[in-house]
Amino acid sequence: MEPLGGGGWTGHAGAPAPGWTYLLPLLLCAALRSLLASPSSEVNLLDSRTVMGDLGWIAYPKNGWEEIGEVDENYAPIHTYQVCKVMEQNQNNWLLTSWISNEGASRIFIELKFTLRDCNSLPGGLGTCKETFNMYYFESDDEDGRNIKENQYIKIDTIAADESFTELDLGDRVMKLNTEVRDVGPLTKKGFYLAFQDVGACIALVSVRVYYKKCPSVIRNLARFPDTITGADSSQLLEVSGICVDHSVTDEAPKMHCSAEGEWLVPIGKCLCKAGYEEKNNTCQVCRPGFFKASPHSPSCSKCPPHSYTLDEASTSCLCEEHYFRKESDPPTMACTTPSPVSSVKKGKITKNSISLSWQEPDRPNGIILEYEIKYFEKDQEMSYTIIKSKETTITADSLKPGSAYVFQIRARTAAGYGGFSRRFEFETSPVLAASSDQSQIPIIVVSVTVGVILLAVVIGFLLSGRRCGYSKAKQDPEEEKMHFHNGHIKLPGVRTYIDPHTYEDPNQAVHEFAKEIEASCITIERVIGAGEFGEVCSGRLKLQGKRELPVAIKTLKVGYTEKQRRDFLGEASIMGQFDHPNIIHLEGVVTKNKPVMIVTEYMENGSLDTFLKKNDGQFTVIQLVGMLRGIASGMKYLSDMGYVHRDLAARNILINSNLVCKVSDFGLSRVLEDDPEAAYTTRGGKIPIRWTALEAIAFRKFTSASDVWSYGIVMWEVMSYGERPYWEMTNQDVIKAVEEGYRLPSPMDCPAALYQLMLDCWQKDRNSRPKFDEIVSMLDKLIRNPSSLKTLVNASSRVSNLLVEHSPVGSSTYRSVGEWLEAIKMGRYTEIFMENGYSSMDAVAQVTIEDLRRLGVTLVGHQKKIMNSLQEMKVQLVNGMMPL
Ligand code: AMP
Repeated sequence: MEPLGGGGWTGHAGAPAPGWTYLLPLLLCAALRSLLASPSSEVNLLDSRTVMGDLGWIAYPKNGWEEIGEVDENYAPIHTYQVCKVMEQNQNNWLLTSWISNEGASRIFIELKFTLRDCNSLPGGLGTCKETFNMYYFESDDEDGRNIKENQYIKIDTIAADESFTELDLGDRVMKLNTEVRDVGPLTKKGFYLAFQDVGACIALVSVRVYYKKCPSVIRNLARFPDTITGADSSQLLEVSGICVDHSVTDEAPKMHCSAEGEWLVPIGKCLCKAGYEEKNNTCQVCRPGFFKASPHSPSCSKCPPHSYTLDEASTSCLCEEHYFRKESDPPTMACTTPSPVSSVKKGKITKNSISLSWQEPDRPNGIILEYEIKYFEKDQEMSYTIIKSKETTITADSLKPGSAYVFQIRARTAAGYGGFSRRFEFETSPVLAASSDQSQIPIIVVSVTVGVILLAVVIGFLLSGRRCGYSKAKQDPEEEKMHFHNGHIKLPGVRTYIDPHTYEDPNQAVHEFAKEIEASCITIERVIGAGEFGEVCSGRLKLQGKRELPVAIKTLKVGYTEKQRRDFLGEASIMGQFDHPNIIHLEGVVTKNKPVMIVTEYMENGSLDTFLKKNDGQFTVIQLVGMLRGIASGMKYLSDMGYVHRDLAARNILINSNLVCKVSDFGLSRVLEDDPEAAYTTRGGKIPIRWTALEAIAFRKFTSASDVWSYGIVMWEVMSYGERPYWEMTNQDVIKAVEEGYRLPSPMDCPAALYQLMLDCWQKDRNSRPKFDEIVSMLDKLIRNPSSLKTLVNASSRVSNLLVEHSPVGSSTYRSVGEWLEAIKMGRYTEIFMENGYSSMDAVAQVTIEDLRRLGVTLVGHQKKIMNSLQEMKVQLVNGMMPL
């Protein structure tokens, strides 16, 4: 082979082939331009159509390939090369491009547009005519590598015409424009030459385009991915990291993959517009004044919530307007509000000259309360008022007139300013005992002297007695105790109210105000009877000097307690110690000076009522049960008169002694109800024993004596059903839903209608419609006095007919036989009798009535109940099984 000649090829070398013109009409050129527009993922390294001047290509031999100087519709030159030596033997015509830089691409593509004449259409020459040509390349770092030998070129492919391409009708001839694309790679040098070899065909090479492919710069998921040249390998995916756009932050590192075809694939991760910016059209736009975005994860800028504003762009939160506030813990989406007013104010100690008050921090104080402002004035004297400021939730208003009504209002101040004043609370100072104020000192002095003498005598007696068992505070006469233990102020009957131990700055002061200190040596612990929240509960004996020995229950505070646990533990004593009623558990005293710290109460032989009733199922007369209920109601009346709301009234918190006297207990200070296993957290965060609690207390913590009445109704139900669990195994959520929808527990078995009616009254939705405890006591008294009124029972059939849907939560089908069912409820002894009397299937058993049971010889009331209750449970779909009101 000859080397390719040096010297540039220009102009027309050789003559056009006879009978056929290669001049392409302008029409063809225009069509080509539109056809050849390259996609954005392709980057041209050479496009012969766009080169204005000399292409610098070389033809060898000179009479082989020749350039036809054409112009397009804009008169721009088109470089078209043609060769048509079809009549001559042994053709070897080379057309060599100039050096093409690969611009860093390691795989390049060559697109050829050409026409190739069909040899059949040529007159003669068929013997030498060819219909293909060859394409070669040669890599080189610079332009000096052109004068190499033909055999140093590497063949890319033999190119043949492909008829599937555009056909252009040129009058009487059909000329086919072919497009062929070939790729080459991996390339290792900076550039290359291409060469086209003709071996005797009739070709017009209309255009040569050389390009590489890239994945074009793109923004996806708020990350910018740069132009990326595809890999050398046709199946290679290049992993590319994205860069977060302005004002955005990485959520998860953004990545995409660039395919060999120049397509972005498989996006991973993303960026998010940072706080104060929101996404719009793949960019992060600033939040306008009046809008904010608190976190990158918020989707867009939001308008400032009510009573807040921002004057700045890119705000991440809004400022509260003057006098409005938001807690630090509140989310920035929360509206700013003013502090909420103080709502619950309780009177504490009242003397003839002073009134002590306590109140609870507002539910939503909207920030740290800096202080309270208490405004008060004598009733009807509003013009002349006094203001006291306090950081505590208690105050004592002094220098008041005896026997006069005063009006109090309280408001809280936070950093946002003052909240609204509470409603007016009216309290009255104690009247003076003596007829005239001048003489009023005399009886007090007399009383004081008398008390002083008594106290002295007691102290001397105590010292002389060698300090044996006894209270460390000598308190003999209850009246005297009251006088002395309320700072010397005479406390009149009727004004006694419960004082929340929380109102004492020092809880130890409260416990010693209301509970007697007992010498530990006076107590003998005998055995453990239960487990309390703070430690074991034991039974034992208390022997105080000069008194007979008493059986007592001793609650202990476990070792390793915290100061708060000690305070809460003794808090119960501070509460209990204020009560004195036969149906309230009686506090004997406390041991605080020795360890373990103890609370000593009267001993209740039968323990808690729910367990006791379950143990003695069906064993009591209705009158006995009503007697228990009467006791509980009486204790509750006393508590409500004292202004004490129990909040956890339930049979488990009633203790019963050997005389079946029931007493209310469980006065935990950490109410609500950390220690009650029945208490569940509500959506509002508090812990509430749902099944025992009135709707309004569950919904918005409206705990009142009226909500205690609701709980009392549940206790009635527990008692009359011998410790059955209210609402059985329904979930708390279902209980709330059913009760809200108006359903109520059905009557317990054999329950006097009057008692069930009373229960329903206690469960009135409107709390004001519920009976008061004194009315309940009177009603029960009436029933006890007139036992025949208890004879009318809730009709068993009406009970059942009130059940809306009959379906079994346990499912009669879950018992395969009558025997299995009776065994499961521990009534297996009756299996034979049931079978003998035709109750051999669960379907038959479902029809059993209490009369049937009696006829079968099931005479024990407890057993009758057990069987009927089990049948009831199987029949009743629990939610719908309750009574709709
Ligand atoms: P408490 O911590 O009050 O719930 O008491 C736990 C358990 O100890 C109760 O359920 C009773 O079984 C028992 N208990 C508490 N106080 C007494 C008492 N005064 N007399 C008898 N048993 C009591």
